[in-house]
Amino acid sequence: MTDTAARPLQIGDSDHSARTYEVKTYGCQMNVHDSERLSGLLDEAGYSPAPIGEQADIVVFNTCAVRENADNRLYGNLGRLAQVKRERPGMQIAVGGCMAQKDRETIVERAPWVDVVFGTHNMGSLPALLARARHNAEAQVEILESLDVFPSTLPTRRESTHSGWVSISVGCNNTCTFCIVPALRGKEKDRRPGDILAEVEALAADGVIEVTLLGQNVNSYGAEFRDRGAFAKLLRAVGKVEGIERVRFTSPHPAAFSDDVIHAMAETPTVMPQLHMPLQSGSDRILKAMRRSYRTSRFMGILERVRNRIPDAAITTDIIVGFPGETEEDFVGTLEIVRQARFAQAFTFQYSKRPGTPAAAMPDQLPKEVVQERFERLVALQDQIAWEENQAHIGKQVNVLVTSLPDSEHGRASGRAADNRLVHVGAAGTTGLLRPGDIVACTVSEAKPYFLIADGPAAIIPTRAGDAWERSQADSCGAGPAPVEGGPTLLGMPTIRTRS
Ligand code: SF4
Repeated sequence: MTDTAARPLQIGDSDHSARTYEVKTYGCQMNVHDSERLSGLLDEAGYSPAPIGEQADIVVFNTCAVRENADNRLYGNLGRLAQVKRERPGMQIAVGGCMAQKDRETIVERAPWVDVVFGTHNMGSLPALLARARHNAEAQVEILESLDVFPSTLPTRRESTHSGWVSISVGCNNTCTFCIVPALRGKEKDRRPGDILAEVEALAADGVIEVTLLGQNVNSYGAEFRDRGAFAKLLRAVGKVEGIERVRFTSPHPAAFSDDVIHAMAETPTVMPQLHMPLQSGSDRILKAMRRSYRTSRFMGILERVRNRIPDAAITTDIIVGFPGETEEDFVGTLEIVRQARFAQAFTFQYSKRPGTPAAAMPDQLPKEVVQERFERLVALQDQIAWEENQAHIGKQVNVLVTSLPDSEHGRASGRAADNRLVHVGAAGTTGLLRPGDIVACTVSEAKPYFLIADGPAAIIPTRAGDAWERSQADSCGAGPAPVEGGPTLLGMPTIRTRS
């Protein structure tokens, strides 16, 4: 469906050659990656990124409908921009992503100063919609019900010189009762393996040494072309691409996670010893109510088989606390699974109603205090386990892919170990020599619940990615921001995480 809502605009120019843009991203890694595509599209259309600290001529919100209060946040941000726009003739505001797919015309009804609304299936239309809104002097609302162009075929402005996201599928065939994704992103669409490999090869040629394969449910990859072993085959093929030293993926689903994927991980040296496996609940009764089609015994069986084949694998998870009807006994079941599973990290969420999901209409929604109290118990337990697991790394050598330059406070650079643990490297003698993208071989000297510290001797292993970073700095005369962790390039972990 395509629909258009009309209203007068204050502007009518059509020249965008000197216009600047900013893309503001909310939500998960899928959105982070989509924003790279949006930036690439705008670059190609002749716009340029707004310098840091300067107001952009075009502001694009790439929104998320998963987080609680997502709409309040969006309309709050739009409200603040209304005044800016009044004082800045020619400015345009676009809203895309999951909230746009969900709210459609409501956005221009509630915020009539918005110029363009586009959905999750037609990102490629953004430049045309901006131009049309200017030309017609009216808002353009265009939402498609199914995918127009696979997002990865759109141009990209990558945020990192060393790591790249590669979409292998979009959408999801599951129907988890707490999740709005299937309604907004549609059924799973798989990208052809040849296209994926071509993108990985192009990234490698560009200096990238780490790729993360991305999908709502990566291990069901191949469902569309009926090849159950497609994801394992893809992992092996991507792992062989010359120049790619680290392969990661997110997120798999326990129901479809098969042993051939474990074998591919174990037998492909470049696939990193890391697995993010969402548990959601440690109660079989609640898993059923969530319509998650696995049970805790299956989940724990996967962990056991992964650890048998990949003993140093760091396993992380997502857990929702306070799903409707969750009893104290159900919650104790979750604590017990967490105790047994010994996750390296858990992204813990307090359940909150997401309008449009089946769970939002379920009876027995829990009072906020009950959810908060359980959440705190879970976080305390998981933090203790994560700290113990991290302490076991003291004295071990780790190879850290540097993602940000040393900070001014401690003089430590940050990066990721092979198992994706965050490591702050303060090795003497490396100051001024470390480049994002290089690898540092160092020894863990201290452990905290959320990161490791390596403050001892270290060896820098220069990489093509470090060279690419240096070139990018030279190209921007050092004026551009270095790609830093904490920006939009968190690797292998979902960014929809809360600790509230
Ligand atoms: S598998 Fe993930 S994306 Fe799909 S419905 Fe469940 S939670 Fe949502």
